[in-house]
Amino acid sequence: MLRAASSHSILDWCEAKEEKSTNNLVSAERPMRYISTRGQTAPQSFAGILLAGLAPDGGLFLPESWPQVPADEVASFAGKRYADVAFAILKRFTGDSFIDAELREDIEAAYSDFDASDIAPLVEIGKGKYLLELFHGPTLAFKDIAMQVLGRLFARALAKKGGKATVVAATSGDTGSAAIAALGGLPNIDVFVMHPKGRVSEVQRRQMTTAPFANVHNIALEGSFDDAQSIVKSLFADKAFADRAHLTAVNSINFARIAAQSVYYFTATAKLGKSTFVVPTGNFGDVFAGEAAMRMGLPVEKLIVATNANDIVARALNEGIYAPGKAQSTLSPSMDIQVASNFERALFEASGRDTNWMRSAMEEFARTKNITLPPNVRSALADRYTAFSIGDYETRASIKKMYDETGRIMDPHTAVGEAAGFRIWAQGIRPIVVLSTAHPAKFPDAVARATGQKVPLPPRLAALYDGVERVTVLPHDLGAVRGFIEERLRPA
Ligand SMILES: *Cc1c(COP(=O)(O)O)cnc(C)c1O
Repeated sequence: MLRAASSHSILDWCEAKEEKSTNNLVSAERPMRYISTRGQTAPQSFAGILLAGLAPDGGLFLPESWPQVPADEVASFAGKRYADVAFAILKRFTGDSFIDAELREDIEAAYSDFDASDIAPLVEIGKGKYLLELFHGPTLAFKDIAMQVLGRLFARALAKKGGKATVVAATSGDTGSAAIAALGGLPNIDVFVMHPKGRVSEVQRRQMTTAPFANVHNIALEGSFDDAQSIVKSLFADKAFADRAHLTAVNSINFARIAAQSVYYFTATAKLGKSTFVVPTGNFGDVFAGEAAMRMGLPVEKLIVATNANDIVARALNEGIYAPGKAQSTLSPSMDIQVASNFERALFEASGRDTNWMRSAMEEFARTKNITLPPNVRSALADRYTAFSIGDYETRASIKKMYDETGRIMDPHTAVGEAAGFRIWAQGIRPIVVLSTAHPAKFPDAVARATGQKVPLPPRLAALYDGVERVTVLPHDLGAVRGFIEERLRPA
């Protein structure tokens, strides 16, 4: 028989538990709470939003108010280990959900398997121009930096709460393997990863499909990333199913990812001073982590949004019309995204946290696939963001030029950023930090076409071509995906 509690969502449980712990607080200080961009969800703890992913009203979670990091503390980060800075930032977000020793333990473990001792090294590639290398984790893309922390905190929060969770992740290529590396083999968690069939690189696909974990299920969806993401949203909207499955999300709609990604904006700024960051962008999570850092008080000159030909957010920022075009396959597949989930967070902040506008705008977007941004929202976004769309031709040229001039091989996503960064660097803006989001070995074909060079697989991927692939091809059909998950759910 089902216990009464198990028919409720994870959030109901967290709310009940919070009331108790809040009553026990001696201090008058209000603990960190999170609200939804759509304004119809009661404030939640960090553990609550970590386990829930998406807000039940369809919105995304954000802190009720942004924690502040004073300038002298930012300066002190310059000489600190990455894990120590991560602890200083993340403990402001985790509030009363974990004790310091738990958070410290999980952060230390998360960064113990990176092949760069400073986790996110800064490399000067030209006068005043830097690459921030974010690909030194287990799956060679920046997703590991947040996912390694998230996975551990998630398992810890779930163990405290009891019960099980079903993670469903749509991936454009890198989130899937990072989620598998973080959650594979953990008890009480099932992981369903859905990638667009034929639209990820072979290395990306094998990283997901050769994972040897019984709790990991790969789906190759006949469709685009946006089709996969919209199926995930529909699964969440199916409340009966979502509750029965204890559905949750660990992609960048989960605020814990954004919080962990804000850390490298701090470490880079502590070393270089106020900078312009160029961010290869798909779902707008990584660049929004830059906005999060700014809202915590970090001085940042500008955030440059660099998209490939899938330029919906570039058009929204430059022209004020938010409307997806047709998804195109490019050299940078992890950014082949039209509907950028995290843009909702930026819109929410730019509107002055106007939940009424947010709800009606998002309803209109769902209905018409087209919204015109009001002038106040446009100008607030323009204060913070500048956007460029970089095509495949320029991406390839950027990889080749860098290789010819320096011998350095960039992956195609980094190259999109570098090409956008070059445009502002040419205007004399310094310092510029381009986020280098993946290791070139993940995209050997694109790199070979640009440079004629084969990038050797790093040792940690050496066995990639030996493993047996496990993947199920499913049609672009909500019922088919739901049925596949349903059949594989653990008994309650
Ligand atoms: C996910 C990804 C991006 C885009 O990041 P978003 O947070 O989705 O904007 C860029 N580059 C690589 C290599 C990625 O895996």
